[in-house]
Amino acid sequence: MCRHYTVTIYHYSGTTKMGPPHDPESVVNHELKVYGIRGLRVIDAGIMPKVPSGNTNAPVIMVGEKGADLVKQYWYSKRRRRRKRDGEGSDDGALTDWPQKEVPSSSRRPASGDAR
Ligand SMILES: Cc1cc2nc3c(=O)[nH]c(=O)nc-3n(C[C@H](O)[C@H](O)[C@H](O)COP(=O)(O)OP(=O)(O)OC[C@H]3O[C@@H](n4cnc5c(N)ncnc54)[C@H](O)[C@@H]3O)c2cc1C
Repeated sequence: MCRHYTVTIYHYSGTTKMGPPHDPESVVNHELKVYGIRGLRVIDAGIMPKVPSGNTNAPVIMVGEKGADLVKQYWYSKRRRRRKRDGEGSDDGALTDWPQKEVPSSSRRPASGDAR
C-alpha cells in the first residue's frame, strides 16, 4: 500500500523542529526561539517535533496561541524589569538572553592554528 499510495494531504510540518540545544536537528527551543538568531521565533506547523498522525490545523492554532502568549510574556517581563531597574529607559539589553545551540566538541571544526 505505501509503495503505491503515499500522500502528504498538505499537512506539512516539522521543518524547524522544536527540541533541546544538543539535538542536532532542532531549530527552536521550548519557547519557540530560533537558536543563535536573536529576536527570531518560529510559530507555525514547522515547530512540530514529529509528524502528527492527525490533521494539523487545530494544533497549529494552538501553537499560534501559545506563541503569542510567549511573546507577550517576554516583553512584559522585560519592560517590568527595566522599569524597576532604571525607569522608562531604552531597549538596550533586550533580547540578550537568547538561546544558543550546543555544538558537540567532536563536530567542531579545528581552529586554523590546530595541529592536524
Ligand atoms: C489544501 C489544504 C487543505 C487542508 N486541509 C486541512 C484540513 O482539512 N484539516 C486540517 O487540520 N488541516 C488542513 N490543512 C493543513 C493546515 O491548513 C496547515 O497545517 C496550517 O494552515 C499550517 O499553518 P501554518 O501557520 O504553519 O502555515 P500557513 O497557514 O501556510 O501560514 C503561513 C502564512 O505566512 C504567510 N507568508 C508566507 N510568506 C510570507 C512572507 N514572505 N511574508 C509574510 N507572510 C508570508 C502566508 O501568506 C500565510 O498566511 C490543509 C492544507 C491545505 C494546503
